[in-house]
Amino acid sequence: MDSSRINVSSNSGNEGNNSATNDEEAEELCPGFKDVDSFVKYGLSAVVSATKASAGLPQAGDEYDFYRSFPGFQEFCESQGDRLLHCMSQLMQHHGCRAHMRDHNKLTGLEERFDLVVDSNDVILEKVGILLDEADGVNRSQQPVMPAGFQPPKIVVSSWNRKRGSETFRLLHAKNITRPQLKFKEKIDNSNTPFIPKIFIKPNAIKPLPSYFTNKQIRKERPEDLDVPAALADLIHQQRTQEHVEDMFAHPYQYELDHLTVPERMLSKPEPQMYKPMAETKCSFIDTLEDLVALNEKLCRLSEFAVDLEHHSYRSFLGITCLMQISTRDEDFIIDTLELRSEMYILNEAFTDPAVIKVFHGADSDIEWLQKDLGLYVVNLFDTHQASRALNLARHSLDHLLKFFCNVDSDKRYQLADWRIRPLPDEMFQYARADTHYLLYIYDCLRVQLLDFNHGQPGLLQSVWNKSRDISLKRYVKPIFTEESYLELQRKQKRSFNTQQLTAFRLLFAWRDKLARQEDESTGYVLPNHMMIKISEELPKEPQGIIACCNPVPPLVRQQVTELHLLVKEARDIPLLKAEIGAQQKKGLTPVKKPEVTLFGPHDTSRTSESDFPPFSPDELPVKQGMLFSDDEPGKDVDMEKMKGLVASAKITLFEVQIRSLTAAQVKASQIIESFHNPFRMYLPSKDVHVNKNAKFDPSTKIYEISKRWKLQSTEQQQKEMEAKRKAREEAKELAKKVSEERNKAKQSYQESLQNVATVRQQAAESAKGGGKKRERVASEVGESTPKPSKKLMKSAEKPSKKDTAPKDDFKPFDYHQSDFKVFAGIILTFSFHLHLFRQHKNPKGPKSNSSAGNRSLSYLAGKSDR
Ligand code: AMP
Ligand code: MN
Ligand code: ZN
Repeated sequence: MDSSRINVSSNSGNEGNNSATNDEEAEELCPGFKDVDSFVKYGLSAVVSATKASAGLPQAGDEYDFYRSFPGFQEFCESQGDRLLHCMSQLMQHHGCRAHMRDHNKLTGLEERFDLVVDSNDVILEKVGILLDEADGVNRSQQPVMPAGFQPPKIVVSSWNRKRGSETFRLLHAKNITRPQLKFKEKIDNSNTPFIPKIFIKPNAIKPLPSYFTNKQIRKERPEDLDVPAALADLIHQQRTQEHVEDMFAHPYQYELDHLTVPERMLSKPEPQMYKPMAETKCSFIDTLEDLVALNEKLCRLSEFAVDLEHHSYRSFLGITCLMQISTRDEDFIIDTLELRSEMYILNEAFTDPAVIKVFHGADSDIEWLQKDLGLYVVNLFDTHQASRALNLARHSLDHLLKFFCNVDSDKRYQLADWRIRPLPDEMFQYARADTHYLLYIYDCLRVQLLDFNHGQPGLLQSVWNKSRDISLKRYVKPIFTEESYLELQRKQKRSFNTQQLTAFRLLFAWRDKLARQEDESTGYVLPNHMMIKISEELPKEPQGIIACCNPVPPLVRQQVTELHLLVKEARDIPLLKAEIGAQQKKGLTPVKKPEVTLFGPHDTSRTSESDFPPFSPDELPVKQGMLFSDDEPGKDVDMEKMKGLVASAKITLFEVQIRSLTAAQVKASQIIESFHNPFRMYLPSKDVHVNKNAKFDPSTKIYEISKRWKLQSTEQQQKEMEAKRKAREEAKELAKKVSEERNKAKQSYQESLQNVATVRQQAAESAKGGGKKRERVASEVGESTPKPSKKLMKSAEKPSKKDTAPKDDFKPFDYHQSDFKVFAGIILTFSFHLHLFRQHKNPKGPKSNSSAGNRSLSYLAGKSDR
């Protein structure tokens, strides 16, 4: 670190160090401090005493107001306040941050100052991170050249991995990792089009999967594949897909989740089942298809298992799910979702089985990642994070629950590790494992507490089940670029840009989005927000200026600096204000000028320079008063500058806008008045017509007339009601019938989709046969299926039906005798083996025969029937 720039006055508090010898001085970290420790210690104690002092100040409100009535106190506060602001401004300027701490004439002064401090902290910490990296010998802008491997953990502090407080994370990362995307069988779709579910087969369906997903032709056919002129092809394609649009974007398991009910036993108090010690628990790493199939079978037989995911989002546009952790009561599994990405969908059999509970902690992102990368859905989720919230626990993080229920000190250091690293380092393996290992026990404890908390009533527990179901109903939404996307980010940053800066920001934003999609990198990797803002603010005239705005320079910025330079130039060429006013007019709005931009002010501001222009955010662009379509009149723009100081001219707007310039006090007053409500409003009659009940007996009233007529109609009405009731009953019957038909249809479509396909099982067997030969999978097309699906259908049908709409009696297990058995054709598996599986599943949640379960996986792999 550049120690000469750290300016700590040496006479403040560190005794006698200055009189040190020359030798010692040479070794000093910075004047007055011999090493980092003493510097940090001193700094910390200074901060602590400052915090203490500020806490001791009179509190805002009465106390403060009282003190303030003394002029001496007031003066002192103001001068000290100014001093502090001055100090802070200097610090910020020193670090090259925006620093207008002492601008007083802003309505939202305090808030803006606070934002300034936050921004500056970000910038400073970012710099610290970069310097630490550099000190550590890491040059982050260097392209990976070495083969995959990993380096030992190191501390990286950066604004994106900073938690509240000054906690830092150890980020285990590898410098040179081959991009896992390169090995994906199905190419990543970063196109600027909405996400379409990756599902083509739907286990545990009550409602069949829409034909869009099962029909290969509709799904795969692209306009360019049609043998007709392009325009016509587009039209045909549009027509074909139009009718599917609703299905294409719906949640594939919406129906099943809407009809999911929590079984009674899930609302009663459980006996918490203690977790097995880690050391005594088997943990398997799963990276082959046959292991995954076996795991799926295992999971289908359970009543619950815990799941977690690890995800990487820096070197990919949409992010990549790198790892899935699953824990049962007896075993842990770590699944390599990079290796098995295209096969993971087979777990849908367990994941969508309503009889198997899936326990997650904080599943919001996981649910989206499962859909995005793996085509997986969850039916019957319990989210321990939601349970913790419902219980109002002190904190809701997993480490807190681990400490609270298991007295386990977890180490979240690796949360932000680069999970693409392979082979997975042992410390990361163990970390990942701990994320689910204890979760089922925590799930038990939380349910007990939820019931106790509510005096044994299931209401609270039920609400957690409901919240969890809502989470599993979440749909993954791909980031879509629109002409307005940049404004969203700009608003969040709370920067004020003039029109040139805003244009640069818009152009850079579009460039970044396009490149990120194309190169499959995150936008943060292509060009981090703060650098994009800096370039927009500075509008460098030379390419070198763009480079200077970035430290370290992102590789793609370096590579495309000429392109970027042209964009910035384009923005600079835009006449100030013009373009944005045009944009606003298109929307039919006349932008309103900020009150403090003096329209009626006494001062002549006509000679202020361009740089003194008040910064405008996009919501508050300056308006040329009196001209609705001023841009359409060439030449008028030139006068813009002069108009700034003019007395107000007539103003015509489409919508009513506030023309008067209110003082701060007036604005506040009007806000206060607006916030007043009549406290008795709740007792007032509702806005609907309110009639005195007695009125209908008063022949003089209109009501009487109406009620008389009503009486005449009432017999008719009664008959109608009877009819309606009868109809409702019929409809209910109809619905029940329909559901059972749907179920049959689902069953049928599921079975149909199983026909003429190479199954996962088959592939597994083949790959097992092939030994070391790399398994080749037919790209995930329609019809590839999960093995032995019917068992599931039967399983759910045999479970006591909780839905009165779905009668169970009409279910017949699929008879494999009638099948042509293409499903299992070509593999050693015999059909009687599957029948055997069937039998086992007839008794789904009863006492589980472990021995037969073991046999099954074995017999599956060995490919022989035990009958
Ligand atoms: P977890 O559920 O805690 O195992 O986190 C799952 C994934 O979420 C991690 O692999 C990270 O990719 C991401 N993640 C977790 N915490 C953070 C965080 N504080 N900031 C950014 N990403 C996070
Ligand atoms: Mn998680
Ligand atoms: Zn995790």
